[in-house]
Amino acid sequence: DRLKQGLSKAKQGITDRIDEVLKSYTKVDEELLEELEEILITADVGVNTTMDIIEQLRVKIKQKGITDPMDVRVELKAIVEEILTNDNSKLDVSHSPTIILMVGVNGVGKTTTIGKLANKYKKDGKKVLLAAGDTFRAAAIEQLEVWSSRSNVDIIKHQEGADPGAVIFDAVKAAKARNVDVLICDTAGRLHNKANLMNELGKVFKIVDREFPEAKKEVLLVVDATTGQNAVSQAKTFKEVAQITGIVLTKLDGTAKGGVVIAVKSEVDVPVKLIGVGETVEDLQDFDAKAFSDALFG
Ligand code: GDP
Repeated sequence: DRLKQGLSKAKQGITDRIDEVLKSYTKVDEELLEELEEILITADVGVNTTMDIIEQLRVKIKQKGITDPMDVRVELKAIVEEILTNDNSKLDVSHSPTIILMVGVNGVGKTTTIGKLANKYKKDGKKVLLAAGDTFRAAAIEQLEVWSSRSNVDIIKHQEGADPGAVIFDAVKAAKARNVDVLICDTAGRLHNKANLMNELGKVFKIVDREFPEAKKEVLLVVDATTGQNAVSQAKTFKEVAQITGIVLTKLDGTAKGGVVIAVKSEVDVPVKLIGVGETVEDLQDFDAKAFSDALFG
């Protein structure tokens, strides 16, 4: 399936290397754990999270008296799956209206994700509206327009350089007047400094809260999995300046270091709600801890 296919590089970079090491051992010892540790760290799982995983593994090995290296794999998979599991990971737009604010730096796949979501909800029979809130780049507005016509959903846009707050204001008004189910707002991805970012996003959030308090609000941060630990630090920064309700991890198909999912999950403490495993509409998937670990270790 698409998830498996999309994670094939990550599988090569993580699981295949783990298997190779496990096969080369006849007993379970500290040296083996050290080799596993190194693989996880190079796969962008992050140092702290890797230490935690290896410690949990050490405890399990002792508890269960594991002596066969291949049995270590089962335990490792279970530990990873548990770290990835969260209670409210699914992006829920059943409440009408739901306003989704997409945040993230340029190039991470924000526009593409908006387009994919718009397409999906439209297909589900929902009334969708897009807001071109990234007014700093003409290309961002144009790209969003392409998605809107491709999926046949309306878009609210102003000229390049216009006030993003004004775009969001108009979009929220239109969403109300047109009985829209899902309003998806693009926002500027400039990360000059934290104060600046907080200020810009704060304005937009305030408008949404003030003009449409009965709407359910989701703030999704998009990060690019191929940027590894940068994705983790972006998530930490955005979490400090905005109330992020979920993370979208894009381009997982493009990296052998899929461990970044584990790092984001355990170090940022915001649920990963969606993952991108390719460029087509079907490649944006709800994140499911079990399906993910099955695809990775399967
Ligand atoms: P933005 O600047 O954040 O709006 O980024 P874009 O939406 O323009 O995306 C940048 C590039 O990443 C585009 O070429 C997208 O097709 C590509 N992209 C986005 N998501 C994915 C994904 O999950 N997998 C792959 N392979 N490419 C993606």
